[in-house]
Amino acid sequence: MTVSSAPSTAPFDLVLAGGTVFDAATGASRVADIAVAGDRVARIATGLAGEGRQVIDCTGQYVLPGLVEAHTHIFADVSKVGAPPDEAHLHRGVVAAADAGTVGASTFAAFDKYVVRSARMRLVSFLNVSVLGLIDFRFGELLHPETLVAEDALAVAAAHPEVVRGFKIRLSEDVVGSQWRPLLKRSLALAAEAGLPLMIHIGETPEPLPVILDMLRPGDVVAHCYTGKPYGILADGKVLPEVYAARERGVLFESAHGRSNLSFDVARPAIAEGFLPDVITSDTSARNWRGPVFDLVTSMAKLRALGMTMEQIVPRVTLAPARLLGLTAEGYGTLVEGGPAHVTVLEDTAETILPDAAGNEISATRLEPSLVLLAGQQVPTVPWRGSPAA
Ligand SMILES: [Zn+2]
Repeated sequence: MTVSSAPSTAPFDLVLAGGTVFDAATGASRVADIAVAGDRVARIATGLAGEGRQVIDCTGQYVLPGLVEAHTHIFADVSKVGAPPDEAHLHRGVVAAADAGTVGASTFAAFDKYVVRSARMRLVSFLNVSVLGLIDFRFGELLHPETLVAEDALAVAAAHPEVVRGFKIRLSEDVVGSQWRPLLKRSLALAAEAGLPLMIHIGETPEPLPVILDMLRPGDVVAHCYTGKPYGILADGKVLPEVYAARERGVLFESAHGRSNLSFDVARPAIAEGFLPDVITSDTSARNWRGPVFDLVTSMAKLRALGMTMEQIVPRVTLAPARLLGLTAEGYGTLVEGGPAHVTVLEDTAETILPDAAGNEISATRLEPSLVLLAGQQVPTVPWRGSPAA
C-alpha cells in the first residue's frame, strides 16, 4: 500500500485512490477514489488522487464500508467466551458489532460501563433472556428456568435503547434442558413486548428445525444456519422447504461460524442451491479467535471459497447487519458522500488451508484488512491469528 502526500492546500485530508469500491446495497463494484475530510466521506469519484493531503493507493484492493458483525462475544474478563472487542474486531476491519447473548440483565451495567463505553468501536447487544447471560459455558444459563426474568430484560432494554437491539436465547440442550418450548415462547413474548428481534441458535435441541421456525416472527434471527449438528437446514442434501418458507415470512438466517457450528458440508450444497445467509457473522469468541474462526474476514473468505462471490458477500457484512442492529441511521453499513468515513480496505492474500468447525479443510484465498478508517481516523490492524503456513 503506497502512501504519498500532496500539497498542503489540497482540499481533502485523505484520498483512498484507485480501489474497487463496493455498493453495500447491491454488491456492485467500480474503480473509484474516496476522499475523506475530517470524519466524513467528502466525495466518491474518479480523478481525486491529486486532491488529498495524504493519498493511499488502493489499486487492486476491495474498498468497503466498515464491516459490521452481528454475532460475537465480547465481555472479556467476565465471561469465559468474551474476547476484547477492539483487538478482536476493530483491528481486523470491523467497526461495529453486536454481542450475542454473553450479557444478561444482571450483568448489563458492567458490560455497558466497561465494554461498550470503553471500546473505540460501536457496540450493541442481543441481551440474553436469562439474567445471568453466558458467563460460563459449563453451566447453562437457563437450566434454572426462573433466570428468564422478562421484567428485568425489558427494563434494561427500555433504559438502554442505544445498546440493546434484540434478545438472544441459546436453544441448546445443555442450556434449556427439556424446557426449550416454554422458554422460547416466553422469549418471543418479551421480544414482542419490546418490539425487538430474538436471535435463536439452533441445532442443539432434539426437535426438527421446522418446529422451531414455525414459532418465529418476521425479523427474528436464526443463528448458525450452516451448522453441521442434527436438525439443521438440510434434509437429503437439500435445504428444507420450511426454511425457504420461513425466509419468505421474513425470518433471517445468519451464518455464525463459532467454535462448533460452521460445516462446509452443509454450507457448500446450500450455497450451490442458492440459500445464502441474510447476514454473514463469525461468532468470534475467546474460545475461537485463535482458530478455527479467527475473525469475520476469515469467515468471509471461507464462504467465498465455498462459492459465494464478493458481490454477494459485501452487502451481508455491511448494510444487512447494520439494518439488523438498527445502525443505519448512524451511518454504519454504507459508504456515501456526507456519511461517516468508516472504511475497511481488504486485500487478497495467499491461499491458506482453513478449517470448519468439524476440522474439515478448504483451500481459500484469505482476505486481510490493509486499512481501517473509523470516523476518518486510521486505526491499527493486527496480523491474522492463524499460522500462514498451517
Ligand atoms: Zn454465539
